[in-house]
Amino acid sequence: MSFERPDIIRPPSEWKSYFLPLTRGCSNNTCAFCGYYGSKLQMRDVADVKSEVDALALFTHSGIRLPSVSGVVYAVAREWDGKRMFLQDGDALVYPFPRLREVLQYLNDKLPGLERIGTYATPQDILRRSADELKELRQFKLGIFYTGLETGDDELLQKIGKGVNSDQVVEAGRKVKEARIVFSVTVILGLGGIEGSRKHVLETARVLTEIDPDYVGALTLTLVPATPLYEEWERNEFHPLSPFQSLEELTQIIENSNFTDCFFSSMHASNYLSVRGKLPQDKRRMLKQLEVVLQAKDPALLRPEFLRGL
Ligand code: SF4
Repeated sequence: MSFERPDIIRPPSEWKSYFLPLTRGCSNNTCAFCGYYGSKLQMRDVADVKSEVDALALFTHSGIRLPSVSGVVYAVAREWDGKRMFLQDGDALVYPFPRLREVLQYLNDKLPGLERIGTYATPQDILRRSADELKELRQFKLGIFYTGLETGDDELLQKIGKGVNSDQVVEAGRKVKEARIVFSVTVILGLGGIEGSRKHVLETARVLTEIDPDYVGALTLTLVPATPLYEEWERNEFHPLSPFQSLEELTQIIENSNFTDCFFSSMHASNYLSVRGKLPQDKRRMLKQLEVVLQAKDPALLRPEFLRGL
């Protein structure tokens, strides 16, 4: 079966990147809220990846387009500054280590101007790699992992099918930091619904504090049709938060977590309000911003539902 190029789903901070698919789908396709639920993992041949890198290098250096290469390559490459690359898809770190090393080496050779390569990585992918393997990847400029913690509540992690507990995510974070790879962690506001909200925020703040990542991105739960959580909601068994309740969760997570040096943001398109800053130094300002909106309770201050994205 030929490899089907995935759509671009990326962290907000990777907007300047070139998107190079190594896989399609996600190896941990059991998360009850995620659009990758039930997806079939597909691995791309190294030769196919290399021919895209060749085409990209040719275009970047001399503007030459090859008729045999997908138009998507040139559509992205046209706007690209040659510095950052993002490996697709849901957890490209699952790509077998020897093949990943070969691709990274090739990228370094063909595109020497690259400054940083990033990827989504599940905690399982990270734990599967040895410390030496992670350090080797780092040497080839694989410099940032984006990993979903989603919640620090172990019961909720189990319920949503994350496949790891919070201790395992903490352990994965420790390995990433030891390899000097930047660690960016996402959490999902509203994931526990109304009934699970308090435990979700307190445990999430506890685990984030333990991980002490470089970046935290807060997302707001969006119910995706054909996922188990959506079906629970249809059966009236899952009770989502209101937009203002989700901002209360954001407030409590910021309030209760303690970081050494972390950039915390709710810039993702799924959120009702964008708050961002360095923690701990910007904590008061960020909490004040949230307090003003929560006191006014004016829907006009929020991102409208139709502008929210996944
Ligand atoms: S590990 Fe991440 S990408 Fe994969 S199904 Fe879970 S949330 Fe989705």
